[in-house]
Amino acid sequence: MKAAVFFECGGAEKIQLAEIDTPQIQPDQLLLAVKAAALNHLDLWVLAGPAGEGAKFPGCGGADMAGVVVEVGSAVSGFAVNDRVLVNPNLSCGRCAQCIAGEESLCPDYDILTGGFAEYAAVAANKAMKIPDHLSFTDAAAVPLVFQTAWRALISQAKIRPGEDVLILGASGGVASAAIQIAKLSGANVIAVTSSPEKMTQAKALGADEAVNRLEGDFWGAIREWSGGRGVDVVVENVGAATWAGSIDSLKKGGRLVTYGRTTGRIGETNISTLFWNQLHLIGSTMSNQREFSEVMNLIFQGKLQPVIDSVYPLSEASAAYARLKSGRQFGKVVIQVGQDAG
Ligand code: ZN
Repeated sequence: MKAAVFFECGGAEKIQLAEIDTPQIQPDQLLLAVKAAALNHLDLWVLAGPAGEGAKFPGCGGADMAGVVVEVGSAVSGFAVNDRVLVNPNLSCGRCAQCIAGEESLCPDYDILTGGFAEYAAVAANKAMKIPDHLSFTDAAAVPLVFQTAWRALISQAKIRPGEDVLILGASGGVASAAIQIAKLSGANVIAVTSSPEKMTQAKALGADEAVNRLEGDFWGAIREWSGGRGVDVVVENVGAATWAGSIDSLKKGGRLVTYGRTTGRIGETNISTLFWNQLHLIGSTMSNQREFSEVMNLIFQGKLQPVIDSVYPLSEASAAYARLKSGRQFGKVVIQVGQDAG
């Protein structure tokens, strides 16, 4: 089968179209003819190396995928050939205490599926979800990782409530553009921080009540002014080093900061005096459990949350898709169409 792969770590130029073996399914798996798969920052990190973050060659990215079932494992029930599905890319052992408790993203063996940038993929049937006819494969591939991450961060971890002020950093990112919608659906007031006038307009179009350009001065000053000097209830972080200290300064007393990423670097300065005196909560979050995944996917299927797609590339131009994400100029998801009929 054809796949977009890399044989050594590096930049987008390392991605090339190649023939690799079509996967064989296990009894509990489905074989998908992939129709569309979306990029995540994870794909850039794995491609860049260092070894240890999954350098295995040929490497094939693509955690988010949607397609058509072409083969059903002997132990699988509830799926048939020709079913249209998307896939929850969470991988967990299924046997440990966390998995049994339904908290599989806390599993010690937790990992993330890859392999969507290929014509076929073997996926666990219990992680596949049928999609409604009105949802295109391109839209379906754009949602699993980012919407479950945003849902867990805001709903389960930060526990946002109606009427709260929620500051969302890096608002053009896939998770953040999902988070804007989820916060609005939850009745929060949303302030988006982003890095260009165009992205400010796009964040408002998604529902943000206010937008701030972090490259035009200290955004936390603007946030304090906006909130009448109090600061906000919740900050949703993924920018990391460039904004971490300002994010902490944007919180009101008792506020919560939830982070799911660190695009600009993994080390941030924390003013410990601010942390204890203001009784702040710093919360880490990553992908969701299956229950949260189903909840947020159903809201997408009902049209209450919308996929946000920046651009779509054919599999043969996967290298350009990686370059687009790496550029940071995108707003929303960069998607690769694998089949001819991904619509
Ligand atoms: Zn487990």
